[in-house]
Amino acid sequence: MSEPGNERSPRLSTSEAPGQRLRAFLHANIPQMYCDECLKREARLIRMDTVKRLVQSAASAGRYLRGIGTCSACKHAKTVTRAP
Ligand SMILES: [Zn+2]
Repeated sequence: MSEPGNERSPRLSTSEAPGQRLRAFLHANIPQMYCDECLKREARLIRMDTVKRLVQSAASAGRYLRGIGTCSACKHAKTVTRAP
């Protein structure tokens, strides 16, 4: 899996890398949908609050779809996120 836009930024951004990993994972797995816990594990993110902040801000900006559904990984019915 290649990650475009992985060049170094002159300004250090701590939120950039996790956001890129999450986006790359979701786009590579369209139309699968994942709960926050599975996104954290599958996108190799460390902090749960980082996952929630990223998906909530992206969903409110219309970049991800978010709602109750069946997670593609753990098969539980909960709040899931997918790329459109
Ligand atoms: Zn899950």
